[in-house]
Amino acid sequence: NELFILESEKLSLAGQLAAGIAHEIRNPLTAIKGFMKLFQNGVNKAEYIAIISSEISRMESIINELLLLAKPQVNRRQSVDLCQLLNDVHTLLESQAILSSVRMELQFGDEPLYIECDGGEIKQVFINLIKNAIEASNKGGEIVISSKRRDHHIVTTIIDNGSGIPKELLDQIGRPFFSTKVRGTGLGLMISNKIIASHGGSIHIDSSEGEGTTFQVVLPGGKPIGT
Ligand code: ADP
Ligand code: MG
Repeated sequence: NELFILESEKLSLAGQLAAGIAHEIRNPLTAIKGFMKLFQNGVNKAEYIAIISSEISRMESIINELLLLAKPQVNRRQSVDLCQLLNDVHTLLESQAILSSVRMELQFGDEPLYIECDGGEIKQVFINLIKNAIEASNKGGEIVISSKRRDHHIVTTIIDNGSGIPKELLDQIGRPFFSTKVRGTGLGLMISNKIIASHGGSIHIDSSEGEGTTFQVVLPGGKPIGT
């Protein structure tokens, strides 16, 4: 029956996560331990300190992202204007986009688009998705972020003309720790998916290698103004 399926899926996700965490944390620890040995033997290079520090940052980002998952599900739902939220995310990521020579464009009407949500969590989702789009973009790339009401839902799309996702990798996307990046955690999409699902929404991906990727986030809309 359905409940059983849900439970067993949950278990396997926990199993996948445990194995992933063990692996992802052990590698940097092994490296750091090795450098410690060298220090004890009197070998000391600034380069080693830099590697240690970057490995520690990496463990830190993994742990921070996992803590988001472990956060107790208190009800912090509020009416939030998604346009305002996307404006904030846009501002937050502007410097990263400029540094990568990527243009971001926001498209929505004058009307606010209200959703009932935990604003902090939904912000995290769009930071993840837009960051991914920037990271997938080439110099001169363009990212279009648009949001509109569709029946009782608010549909937000993030379109980039970057690297795209090879077909054979599409079903790996969103698995814990799956990343094609040298310094990726591979947790962003899994967490985003979980947050959107907990808000009664869904995420859809359309991508073609070499041409770009579209992420679509569908969320239940709050009441339109005037009702
Ligand atoms: P991370 O960004 O740490 O690698 P994510 O869970 O955010 O982890 O993304 C997982 C993988 O999905 C990325 O490593 C990348 O291969 C792929 N991906 C996500 N978004 C895009 C995108 N917009 N364009 C191309 N590939 C993407
Ligand atoms: Mg990411």
